[in-house]
Amino acid sequence: MKPTRKSLIAAAIVLTASLAIVFLVNKGKQKHEADIFAMDTYMQITVYGRHGDEAVQKAVEKIKRLEGELDASVINAESGVTLTDGGEYLLKRSMELKDMTDGTFDITIYPIVKAWGFPDKNYRVPSEEEIQKLLENKDTNLQYDFGGIAKGYTSDKIAKLMIENGVKSAILNLGGNVMTIGKKPDGSDWKVAIKSPDTSMENLGVLSVYDKAVITSGGYERCFEADGKSYHHIIDPKTGYPAESGLVSVTIISKDATLADALSTALFVMGKDNAIVFWRKYADNFDFVLYDNKGELYVSEGIADSYLAAMEYEVVKR
Ligand code: ADP
Ligand code: MG
Repeated sequence: MKPTRKSLIAAAIVLTASLAIVFLVNKGKQKHEADIFAMDTYMQITVYGRHGDEAVQKAVEKIKRLEGELDASVINAESGVTLTDGGEYLLKRSMELKDMTDGTFDITIYPIVKAWGFPDKNYRVPSEEEIQKLLENKDTNLQYDFGGIAKGYTSDKIAKLMIENGVKSAILNLGGNVMTIGKKPDGSDWKVAIKSPDTSMENLGVLSVYDKAVITSGGYERCFEADGKSYHHIIDPKTGYPAESGLVSVTIISKDATLADALSTALFVMGKDNAIVFWRKYADNFDFVLYDNKGELYVSEGIADSYLAAMEYEVVKR
């Protein structure tokens, strides 16, 4: 059968339309990336879609700026340095979070963190007297440690910047602190693996999320050994010593990355039982994955359906 003029035109239209669709789909999938080292950690920024390169560039600039603003050695009121707007906000927010978490998250911990040698990696075990003195003077201290909240705050700021720049799909990994913006370009959820503290397992599990932060605190992340004992960087503000709550890894899932970062540190200090009591009070605002030194895994109800793990876990109900 000879093709008619009409059917040829129709075929041409169909072909052009499908080519246009393929082109548009690929446009949407255009991937723009940057790897940078900032805030003492490796960071990856991945943005999909048109103008993503511009958004990545802006994000890198913003991270560099925030790094300078939030550096503990800069935020030293005694040296006469005044806080920037971002610093002022984070100081206020941190003080609220200190109240909310019954002092388990406390940015006035800086002199103690410093005494242990964590900021400059000159690790040492301070004497009992030294710790006692620092604890007594903690409330009058004017040096703030944003190390436990800065990356979460930065995630929130970058997510906002992305959205303002029309980005629909992006993922940030700020040294293991993950922030998802929108969904994947194909419309599916992001898969975020939670790092395992020991090498025997590939990961603690994989979360399916979108528009949320997934932030983990682990004692294994930064630690040193002295006299056969291991000391890590999450300090119990009540004792001045590395928290020994029985928890090994704490992941917080929330729309609010600043909150998630502070709570990952706070719940690590609280320990499993207190962490669960705390969560029941604020379950609308966040979810958790807790892993303890007995190898038990606990997952809060709100994300249990989106969590996939090779090992068994207990779902914690409200
Ligand atoms: P990471 O930096 O590995 O993501 P965290 O978010 O838990 O881990 O932050 C740990 C950092 O927070 C420490 O290096 C220290 O600077 C600071 N810090 C330690 N203990 C506390 C605490 N109890 N409250 C607030 N900040 C803390
Ligand atoms: Mg934290």
